[in-house]
Amino acid sequence: MSGAEVSLEHLYRVFTMPEGKDSKLAQIEQHLSDNLSDFLSQHVVAKVNSLEQIEKSFAEYSVPETPEFVSKHAEDLLDKLVANSVNTYSPSFIGHMTSALPYFHLPLAKLLVGLNQNLVKIETSKAFTPLERQVLGMMHELVYDETPDFYQTYLHNANHALGAFCSGGTIANITALWVARNKALPANAEFKGVAQEGLVAGMMHYGYKNMAIISSKRGHYSLSKAVDLIGLGRQHMLTIDSPSQRLSPDKALAMGKQYQQDNNKVLAIVGIAGTTETGHIDPLDELADVAKELGCHFHVDAAWGGATLFSREYHRLLKGIEKADSVTLDAHKQMYVPMGAGMVLFKDPSDSNAVRHHAQYILRAGSKDLGATTLEGSRNGMAMMVYASLHIFGRQGYELLINQSIEKAKIYARMIQSHPDFELVTSPTLSLLTYRLNPQEVQTKMKSHPQLAHDINIQLDNLTVAVQKQQREAGKSFVSRTRLQTEKYPEHAITVFRVVLANPLTTETDLQNILDEQIAIANNTDTWKTLCSTHKKAN
Ligand SMILES: *Cc1c(COP(=O)(O)O)cnc(C)c1O
Repeated sequence: MSGAEVSLEHLYRVFTMPEGKDSKLAQIEQHLSDNLSDFLSQHVVAKVNSLEQIEKSFAEYSVPETPEFVSKHAEDLLDKLVANSVNTYSPSFIGHMTSALPYFHLPLAKLLVGLNQNLVKIETSKAFTPLERQVLGMMHELVYDETPDFYQTYLHNANHALGAFCSGGTIANITALWVARNKALPANAEFKGVAQEGLVAGMMHYGYKNMAIISSKRGHYSLSKAVDLIGLGRQHMLTIDSPSQRLSPDKALAMGKQYQQDNNKVLAIVGIAGTTETGHIDPLDELADVAKELGCHFHVDAAWGGATLFSREYHRLLKGIEKADSVTLDAHKQMYVPMGAGMVLFKDPSDSNAVRHHAQYILRAGSKDLGATTLEGSRNGMAMMVYASLHIFGRQGYELLINQSIEKAKIYARMIQSHPDFELVTSPTLSLLTYRLNPQEVQTKMKSHPQLAHDINIQLDNLTVAVQKQQREAGKSFVSRTRLQTEKYPEHAITVFRVVLANPLTTETDLQNILDEQIAIANNTDTWKTLCSTHKKAN
């Protein structure tokens, strides 16, 4: 195959000329728009190759010397990349928070790239900047429900921001704690503020030895990245054991008080609305009071659970979120927007000024450039996808989606509970739950002989790992796994299957098939046979 011509003429054509109607790229484009699920089932051949094999097709390490025809390259992508991708649209892929998207995002994604606006500054995003501010306003109202006057004042105010749009929950959490840190060590007559003088000077000025955040053990690892990055250090992310999967306000208060006795400062209490592993929601209302008593920032990580606010029925689960100083939301989770759509919202619209930054050529004082108060610089117009989704679904549409996910999780929990060889480990608050395989006779034995639980749990852990891996490798369906401390076995963590019922297209039949497959795989393992034979006799 001869390469493309190395000339500016050729390159200009690459910039300007659409490929012919029958070119490979045009065919891909057509197939994607005509029938995405058909495209995926035809081209995404799950689990034919091992990761090692796939790595071999990505073994080049030099920049290709000469240009290649677009269509030739498109074929390459189909073979190497698309064929080995994971079909996250599959209704049997219930292990993670990434799922099928509504079809309209596909043409909108083309529009987004076609316009290629840069939200860092008004000069490259004249209409997108107000649009993003409006999206932040809508989500702010969903959380904080302020007055119409409030939104009229702040929605497009150059000196305030209701939040920051960002690539995801991680950056949102980092931004929230960055704001909290700068507010905790503010400027005064003798001190120019931590943003200017740095953390060491700030801590000395205020007489603090250390600074920490407090959350439950179920806090997302992005919090630990955040405390590292804002200079507190990972040791100063204080986590509290939570066998019930929820942070105890009493324990948080006791820990905070003890920590502050010694010239230390609690920077923030972080409540989680929808933990990544089990979907539990911390008692936000009480935690807000704890933060108040400790005199610290209250942040709520609602990356997963925030969308629950759309539901009149389940809204109450997040009671107290409106007391948070800052809230993280991920539209690329339960709002079914493509990845790259995180948000942090501030109760007080002047909070974002704690991290405001000006530069000469852009972000000038008084400008409405969003880049002045965001951690990220150049950013695309993902807010358009959120805006479109909010209109196309409406609150009522999202409510239906949220309610059906939670109800499906409850149905799945009942299927697990009614099967003698499964054990439900955490029941669903939102659309997440965890469980494991545990032969009926072993469950009985563990009840009558609690002293055996530790050893049996180790065998059950091996069983869970083996079944999860084999199911994943078989490629028909996917559940994830994690290790949890639970109320039943508070002394040691156990390994469990974790499912996230995010895909609206997952049916009860899909769920039954997943359970049947797990039983079939388990029956063939030596661990299962050993467990059953050992404990049968003794009962
Ligand atoms: C997903 C998630 C995050 C991280 O968000 P990213 O978008 O992956 O950066 C943080 N916290 C919670 C609770 C999450 O579910």
